[in-house]
Amino acid sequence: MEELTRELERVMSLEEVTTIDQFRDARAAPKRFFVITDTAKPAPSTHRATCQHVREEWVTTKVLVNGRRNGRYFTTDNYAMAEARGARACPTCRPVAP
Ligand SMILES: [Zn+2]
Repeated sequence: MEELTRELERVMSLEEVTTIDQFRDARAAPKRFFVITDTAKPAPSTHRATCQHVREEWVTTKVLVNGRRNGRYFTTDNYAMAEARGARACPTCRPVAP
């Protein structure tokens, strides 16, 4: 199952954020999107890298402190794939397909 997940991530151009360095690199990249999952929410959300809802301290909590048990962060440059996977556009930063 883990292998299948990795393969799907590769095909869909999704890269999971597992370190803060990786988060910083993705955040600094133009046209990069973040897809955030949360067990308390019905669907993943997609944000622009500059969105106020994408914060390093929250990534630290969710990814490092809580070990991704309550949700995960992914980055992608393929907005359409994130949308096709069920992610909803953040109403604050309003990401759109290029
Ligand atoms: Zn946003």
